This record gives sequence, structure tokens and C-alpha cells, in this order.
Amino acid sequence: MNIVILGPQGSGKGTQSEMVAQKYDAEHFDTGKLLRQVSKSDTPLGKEIHEIVIEKKELVPSRILKEILHLRLNDLQREQSIVFDGVPRNMEQASYFEEALLEFGRKLDKVFFINISEKESIKRISKRWICQKCRKIMIMGKDIKKEKEACPACGGEISQRADDTPEGVKKRLHIYQEETLPVLDFFRKENLLTEINGEQSIEKVFEDIIKVVEKND
Ligand code: AMP
Repeated sequence: MNIVILGPQGSGKGTQSEMVAQKYDAEHFDTGKLLRQVSKSDTPLGKEIHEIVIEKKELVPSRILKEILHLRLNDLQREQSIVFDGVPRNMEQASYFEEALLEFGRKLDKVFFINISEKESIKRISKRWICQKCRKIMIMGKDIKKEKEACPACGGEISQRADDTPEGVKKRLHIYQEETLPVLDFFRKENLLTEINGEQSIEKVFEDIIKVVEKND
């Protein structure tokens, strides 16, 4: 099984991708997380990615994405299911993404678009904090009450993601509207797209996704 989960910042695509991956023992291909990991390495590629993802808050060029995608697909057995989180994000990526899957003997089964409004996206991101140790995502005011608090799960240090500043979110949302929205039409035409209401509880969003995953077309 190969599925893609897309959605604006704060839509919960990461959380849902992880839950779906766990349920089906699939690989969670988290593009943003992979890029942030490489961006911390003291290598020319790490520095280039840091500048684009963390400083400019833009999409990395296709050359980098292709390399990361190929490396990962090459590492995985063909039978291993994959949940792709955050890719493809523009039309150029959409066309080579499906080609890359075919090259590795895979077929894209379903694409999910978790939809939330821009207002909700900004509201959620400004409250999103992450534990530096266990990577747990926390909501300020719900899971934690103040910035200096330790992670309730492991006691680790908490912080906001470097690209989750107000201007970072606005820029990423703009890129999302300009570049990612056309990708949804592309998959709609291929009859692969299902839109999910992302402004429901985590459990309900998950339930809606699973219903479609398990539906035999
Ligand atoms: P995310 O964790 O999905 O919000 O992604 C964080 C950042 O990683 C994005 O703002 C981009 O800079 C970069 N990124 C993630 N996915 C892609 C992609 N498919 N193509 C290019 N850049 C990406």
C-alpha cells in the first residue's frame, strides 16, 4: 500500500500519517522531518537545506527531494507499505513522484487531503510546541501551560519549531496555496483524492481516513 497525506500547516497530517503507518505497519515517510534532520548535519547539503527550510521557509529544489526520495525507496522492500507525508507539494514533484514509485515497482493507491481553514492553521501552529528529546508534539494551553515547562512525557526541553514563527507560517501557507493546491486537482483527476474534514477530533479524522483505506474500489 502506498498512500499520500497532504494538508496545510497544522492540519494534523503528521499525526494522522503516523497513526495510519502504525496501524498498517507501514513506513512513515515524513518529508519535512527528514529534511530538518539533514539540515542539522554539518555538511554542504545540510547547510543548503538549513538555509532553505529554516531560514527562507521555502520548498527545497527538486534535485534534493529526488535524492532523498530515491535513497529511501531504494532502502525499502517493495512489499513494505509507505505513508508519504508532505510530498508531492508542487506540480513538478507530482509528476516525478509517481514515476519514481513506478520505477521501484510501486503504485499510488490513495491520496488524502486533510482540509482546515487558514485561520485554524495559523491558530494551531502558533500553539504548537515540540519536545527536543522525545519529539512529542504539544499544544500550549492544553498539554502545557507555559514556555519554561518540561515535556510532560519525558521531562525533556520543549521549544517551538524554528520555522513555526508567525511570518514563517504565513510564508509556508502562501506557498501551500500557490503550489500545493494545484496538486490536489491533479490527483482528483486521477480519481485518487479524498478530502477529509481536518477540523474534527484526531480520532474522527483517523476514522474517516481508515474507512477509505479499507474500501475496496
Ligand atoms: P512540514 O514538516 O511538512 O511542515 O515541512 C517543513 C518544511 O520542509 C517545508 O516548509 C519545506 O521547506 C520543506 N519540505 C517539506 N516537504 C517538502 C517537499 N515535498 N518539497 C520541498 N520541500 C519540502
